Amino acid sequence: MEEKLYQKTPLFKSHKLHLEKGLNVFYKMECFQPTNSFKIRGMDAFCRFHVKQGHKNFISSSGGNAGYSMAYAGMKLNAKVKVVVPKTTSQFMKQKIETLNAEVLIFGDAWDDAHQHALQLSKTENAIYVPPFDDELLWQGHSTIIDECFDQMPQPDKLIVSVGGGGLLCGILMGLKKHGWNKTQIITTETKGAASFYESYKANKIIELKEIKTVATTLGAKKITPMALKLAKEFNISSFVMDDEIAIEATTLFAKEYNTLVEPACGAALSAVYFDYELITPNDTILVIACGGANQNFFN
Ligand SMILES: *Cc1c(COP(=O)(O)O)cnc(C)c1O
Repeated sequence: MEEKLYQKTPLFKSHKLHLEKGLNVFYKMECFQPTNSFKIRGMDAFCRFHVKQGHKNFISSSGGNAGYSMAYAGMKLNAKVKVVVPKTTSQFMKQKIETLNAEVLIFGDAWDDAHQHALQLSKTENAIYVPPFDDELLWQGHSTIIDECFDQMPQPDKLIVSVGGGGLLCGILMGLKKHGWNKTQIITTETKGAASFYESYKANKIIELKEIKTVATTLGAKKITPMALKLAKEFNISSFVMDDEIAIEATTLFAKEYNTLVEPACGAALSAVYFDYELITPNDTILVIACGGANQNFFN
């Protein structure tokens, strides 16, 4: 029970980027978690807390990495997990989730439908609803990324992180505060069709996107958590938005560098160092959160 569900991940210095461009880039390899993404850190904190309270039934509405990590946590903690996913969820992810003994229910055309159904079910079945990004326990779990970096490297000048609903960003900023790394400059990355953080940060209030239009579906939250905006005010933040093609190209370059597949959601962050944005300079120590993603495979 006290055994952690996530791994301490390696921090790799990019020899390629050092040799080719003189950059000092460190990748925090969250793609090497047992569920291929950092999401398991949040689920570890979330599920452990609720299991200690005596709960053994969880319902998630994510057909992506949150649902997959939830299924993994449930298997490890002997809890029952249902994952409600919309029709659009790939067969590949449904099978991955089922392989971990979770029950996959298909409901509705879009995530919002699945989400409403999961909320309803959690009430009638007296189960805990598992949010994908908007929860204090999830953020605490994600903040362990920075706990590890604190032991692995000097304070970074810049930190690059992808934003979907902003749960990862909240965890990262909480971790930086905890360790007194407040002066680290934050570069957030999103693809154009999912720029909910960019829009909200610019407007200084939560903006809801009308639609999500990107291959990086993992970043596709129409609204970020208000906490991301609140914490962002305490940091020096630059918000970047790029075309899908750039994020995809970065996943290819990363695969060439480390023989490891990640989603375009992660490629968005990687692209900032591969494609020389003006914010990146050779004098900086740069930390890139290689957030990973399981919805990517060699065979299609
Ligand atoms: C969930 C996820 C994100 C985005 O995280 P948020 O907490 O929604 O901002 C980015 N990359 C990957 C691989 C993810 O699984």
